[in-house]
Amino acid sequence: MTFDHFNFEPELVEGLAAMQFENPTPVQAQSIPIILENKDLIACAQTGTGKTAAYLLPILNKLAKNPTDSIHTLILTPTRELAMQVDQQLQGFSYFVGASSLAVYGGGDSGVWDTQRRAFETGVNIVIGTPGRLLSHMNFGYLKFDKIEHLILDEADKMLDMGFYDDIMKIINKMPKERETLMFSATMPDKIRKLAKAILRDPEEIAFEISKPAEGVLQMAYLTYDEHKIEMIHRLLDGKELQSVLIFSSTKLNTKRIAEKLKKLKHSVGSIHSDFEQREREDILLQFRNRRIQILVATDILSRGIDIEDLDLVINFDVPQDAEDYVHRVGRTARAKSTGVAVTFINEKDQYNFSKIETLIDSTIIKIPIPADLGKSPSYNPNKKRQSFNKRNFKKKKKR
Ligand code: AMP
Repeated sequence: MTFDHFNFEPELVEGLAAMQFENPTPVQAQSIPIILENKDLIACAQTGTGKTAAYLLPILNKLAKNPTDSIHTLILTPTRELAMQVDQQLQGFSYFVGASSLAVYGGGDSGVWDTQRRAFETGVNIVIGTPGRLLSHMNFGYLKFDKIEHLILDEADKMLDMGFYDDIMKIINKMPKERETLMFSATMPDKIRKLAKAILRDPEEIAFEISKPAEGVLQMAYLTYDEHKIEMIHRLLDGKELQSVLIFSSTKLNTKRIAEKLKKLKHSVGSIHSDFEQREREDILLQFRNRRIQILVATDILSRGIDIEDLDLVINFDVPQDAEDYVHRVGRTARAKSTGVAVTFINEKDQYNFSKIETLIDSTIIKIPIPADLGKSPSYNPNKKRQSFNKRNFKKKKKR
């Protein structure tokens, strides 16, 4: 199936071409017709399935058909990062449609707040935001959702986990009852079903599995304290003929430090993170693709946009917070070719998160201690965090 199937407006077709999207993913193939028909939808789909474009494309098509000056769509997200990612993708698609968007999230100084307020007063078509910040703007009276036609909850389960239920309901209570509501969630616990019942009308329901790392990826993990990680990378690379190695780190600061340390050890290294200008990023990526740089160190935000095939090795310098990010990171190897290796460093604090990844991908990854001459490895006890959490909860309950 290609995107031609949906008969999108010509402006949107141009946007799709600019983003180099050719074939819809399964979640897109199933969601788009439902959304185009203005039906409510509840979709169980994780990051990486193409869920963002699944709702953005039909919404933009409606805007291309019937342009408006008022706020047409609200997209609620749990985090600032997701709001930014959605807005980025939206801007890519909507360049030719001419729809305006604004991402609104907490943080920043009063200048940021004023810019957000002015944008609302000038008028935007699509607002993407975290519930708390949106509610603060609404309380001042200039932000109204009374003409809204579409409401989308992205990563609904995460929003509830973060305690946004009341804020979400306060926002929804100020919206017209006649609207299309779409809910995307990675998991479907009871609380999500309850929320769906409260805010969706006769929804269609679809569910997708996250794609597990390809069969050909050899996944393994080292149990290591932070101080041994750089030396471990050095040993993994030393004397081997690896042409392209991608190292992921969760933080910008670590990305810089890892690159600097590896440079000192005479490796050919580049790094990219969100501080870099687009042109700088593209330049480093090009060098990496052309194999002029052997190692690229990057943060997760960029992992989704990097399209590099044929990596020899992916190293997770730390365990990602979101289990889905692991699948993204590891999915970078063994794409075009049939084999690849993904190595994860697990320190003593990351063990519980790593066990969540194993649950998500439904397999146990081999864990090995670092070589004895390097130092001691932490012992593996992934239930530690859960135990202490339960103990805390238990104490609280007893007090009541
Ligand atoms: P998401 O699950 O929405 O976070 O999307 C994951 C990644 O897949 C993003 O980098 C998208 O740009 C990309 N993507 C989504 N749909 C398609 C498609 N139909 N063709 C190519 N790339 C896509």
